[in-house]
Amino acid sequence: MNYWKEFFPFYFYSIIAASLAIKASLYKNYSLFQIALLAIVGIVSWMFLEYGLHRFFFHYKAKTPTTKQLVYRMHLAHHENPKALDSLFSSLYTSAPIALLYCLLTWAITGSWQIMSYLFLGLIIGYFCYELLHYQAHHHTPKIAILKYLKKYHMLHHHQSSNLRFGVTSPFIDWLFGTYKAVSSKLLNYN
Ligand SMILES: [Zn+2]
Ligand SMILES: [Zn+2]
Repeated sequence: MNYWKEFFPFYFYSIIAASLAIKASLYKNYSLFQIALLAIVGIVSWMFLEYGLHRFFFHYKAKTPTTKQLVYRMHLAHHENPKALDSLFSSLYTSAPIALLYCLLTWAITGSWQIMSYLFLGLIIGYFCYELLHYQAHHHTPKIAILKYLKKYHMLHHHQSSNLRFGVTSPFIDWLFGTYKAVSSKLLNYN
């Protein structure tokens, strides 16, 4: 495995998110509690973003050849070959425009680049958790109950119905938007 290539987005976003948050913290305008709260809001915003992208963009029923190709590269290639790392991890081409848009939007809405930095830090923490949980769902046999559940939950999205269970880090947003379906205990062991 080419670790440098596959994990490049991890290094890239770690450096950017940490640098922004450290730079913002030097101004001492927010307490540690406020920073933690903003980071939590950032993590929650990731969960909504993960759900929205997966449901409305990655499974978009494209009509033109160009959009079909785009959707295929962004996600459907992963459904075709779930274990392949190049389609399992999001590429920088997909994530960078979204990350930039998120920063610009949160900056415009809050009017503060420091708040934006703390929200972005949370978003990146959520994104890394997503990549990690998604990787474990396809490549590991977890022993911890919650990880076992999340693996089963995601495997059902792959093998049973791709119109349900879009959340990878949590089924909560699925429940909120009506795409949640409980995992049966008599479930086949997908890998
Ligand atoms: Zn998957
Ligand atoms: Zn999918």
